[in-house]
Amino acid sequence: MILKIRRPDDFHVHLRDGAMLRQVARHTASQFARALVMPNVPPIDTGPQAERLKSEIFQHVSPSSFTPLMAIRLTAKTTPETIQEAKRCGVVAAKVYPQGVTTGSHGGVTIDQLQQMGAVFATMQDVGMVLCWHGEFPGPGWLSAEQRMLPEIRKVVDDFPRLKQVLEHISTREGVEWVRRCPDTVAGTITVHHLFLTLDDLGGRGQFGRGGMLQPHYFYAPIAKEDSDRQTLTEAAIEPSGKFFLGTDSAPHPIDRKFNVDAGCCAAGVFSAPVAMAALATKFEALNALDRLEDFTSAHGARFYGLPLNEGSMVLEKQVWVVPGTVAGMVPFLAGEELGWKVADVEIASR
Ligand SMILES: [Zn+2]
Repeated sequence: MILKIRRPDDFHVHLRDGAMLRQVARHTASQFARALVMPNVPPIDTGPQAERLKSEIFQHVSPSSFTPLMAIRLTAKTTPETIQEAKRCGVVAAKVYPQGVTTGSHGGVTIDQLQQMGAVFATMQDVGMVLCWHGEFPGPGWLSAEQRMLPEIRKVVDDFPRLKQVLEHISTREGVEWVRRCPDTVAGTITVHHLFLTLDDLGGRGQFGRGGMLQPHYFYAPIAKEDSDRQTLTEAAIEPSGKFFLGTDSAPHPIDRKFNVDAGCCAAGVFSAPVAMAALATKFEALNALDRLEDFTSAHGARFYGLPLNEGSMVLEKQVWVVPGTVAGMVPFLAGEELGWKVADVEIASR
């Protein structure tokens, strides 16, 4: 059995830089026609910095087959002029990282600073730049951080009714329901891992658990939540509203950052790029919703961002395989697990 869909887009990926970029970029480019490159590692705060990273990406992947969509971070130093310059450099989105919530967010903004950013948001609204949110409230209370951030975002939704905004990597039922209640200028990305895992899996107790042993490769931010949250996310991924689309949040770390024995630490992030589409086809089939996969991966996001739909196609084949233990020297998402679908072919030009 074969499934042919329009080439997909990934509206949230971490490609890193230097040696790591060289290792991982092709895994995104081999599956996705376009990807929104997150600006936290390395920090990308201006249009010219985004242009430099884009040229570095093109040292490893061909512009004829892959288009990186660039984003900048909003910091306390961002001005309306920063936004205008970034727009001229082709930047499509700017992202809020509340200070201290994730990798590379030390330079992010505090909740107080957010309230001073009206002129920046107004400029984004005028030039048509999308505002992406790492939607977690800083400080104690990680499991409820997403819920507690939603009222802060809602203020910006109400104050800037034409500004398009995305709640990134939604992890809770409350986050999904909040996006549904917001106007059509608000959408949400959903990762592959939040469709598969719960907090039990991280703790080694769930379907993907390993006898109660903590699973560093299932550690990411926002952290996996309850099964009821995961189920609401699967319902959102297959709903036809157009408000929810794929952002893998593939965030590779070298193995010694995931298992740092000396420091006794584990970095947050999942390297899902190599298996994203195969895992999604497997999940959507289990949901009896294979016919909704193309909208989630290849239509809703492009329409929200005002981009043309991709030409070209991806062929997935129903075939059982086991995800290898390492890819590009790192442990991919679902390593050692069986998937029911595989990417068989990608056609770049026409459908
Ligand atoms: Zn991310």
